[in-house]
Amino acid sequence: MKKYKVGIIGATGMVGQRFCLLLDKHPWFEIVCLAASPRSAGKTFKEAVAGKWKLADPMPEDLADIVVMNATDDIEKIASQVDFCFCAVDMKKDEIRALEERYAKAECPIVSNNSAHRFTPDVPMVIPEINPDHIEIIAAQRKRLGTKRGFIAVKSNCSLQSYVPALAPLMEKYKVTKALACTYQAISGAGRTFETFPEILDNVIPYIGGEEEKSEKEPMKIWGHIQGDQIVNATEPVITAQCLRVPVSDGHTAAVFCSFEKKPSKEEILEAWKNFSGVPQELGLPSAPKQFLHYFEEDDRPQAKLDRNLEGGMAVSLGRLREDTLFDYKFVCLSHNTLRGAAGGGVLLAELLAAKGYFD
Ligand code: NAP
Repeated sequence: MKKYKVGIIGATGMVGQRFCLLLDKHPWFEIVCLAASPRSAGKTFKEAVAGKWKLADPMPEDLADIVVMNATDDIEKIASQVDFCFCAVDMKKDEIRALEERYAKAECPIVSNNSAHRFTPDVPMVIPEINPDHIEIIAAQRKRLGTKRGFIAVKSNCSLQSYVPALAPLMEKYKVTKALACTYQAISGAGRTFETFPEILDNVIPYIGGEEEKSEKEPMKIWGHIQGDQIVNATEPVITAQCLRVPVSDGHTAAVFCSFEKKPSKEEILEAWKNFSGVPQELGLPSAPKQFLHYFEEDDRPQAKLDRNLEGGMAVSLGRLREDTLFDYKFVCLSHNTLRGAAGGGVLLAELLAAKGYFD
């Protein structure tokens, strides 16, 4: 595999910093360009993140002296230096939508962590183990944009990265008809740490703007299908969600209830989870977990603190599967929100796109 040259748009942010760590010594991708707001542009990366490096692992030393570019003004220059870019910026949605299209039109493919394009009908929103075939819509998107190489592909929201994988292997055979998810979401999902979010200590905040809508709607696109030049959303299962912010640094937990058209036995569900693997595992993508879904038999697992880093934070942890009185079953699931749920999921998507030749 050749090494692809990569840029990170929003490199100084929480997700951008994760990209920096994940791509440091990546076997296929090499960071050649970092970009952020005009506040950071012109500074070295070390200067730009001084006092705002948010991760436990230190900044990779080989990035320290790269001069940060201006994400909005230097598009042509950035596009000429890279094979593709990751994008995770904190801007208004319509600005992000326009920015990502400008990169795509400059023939720079964008793998995005932002929500702006998640419902653009010809932009694939991909969890690589679940709907890898959706990347085939890129041909239609390139036609609309008038590009040869440029396109946008996005990953879904972090809140659903535990329960959508859990329900996915049960969908076809047992037909999930409805699901209820209560999420308990970590503060890094808001780009915060305990130092910058002291009001979360000894507290639970029952509101995360826009999160419940994303948690209910985005799975429908992931379970949708390509029809002509767009992805048509699935109409089932019906999902309802409540999303709470809890005093956890990393790791989103979900308490899930679900019902089926053909109710499986508990053993059949456990078997489906154990055997579930996808294209990333078949292709041996560098960031793919060997076992995507891990079931814990212990009653007090999964726990954010103990289990979020399973398989490099790319696996999903499950536990407490049991019958329910209102729904058929209930269970608990967990995924690392800035790894599988953000930068790691973005890197895995980029690896899928690279393996399928979309950056050539
Ligand atoms: P963040 O820590 O606030 O970082 C924001 C980044 O955007 C910084 O690099 C910042 O540059 C840059 N930026 C801000 N204004 C800009 C402008 N006008 N032009 C160009 N760049 C600009 O945010 P984050 O938590 O990393 O989130 C970034 C994106 O990822 C958001 O869309 C978020 O919804 C999404 N996301 C986050 C998570 C998560 O777990 N945190 C999960 C999934 C998706 P400066 O440093 O120069 O200001």
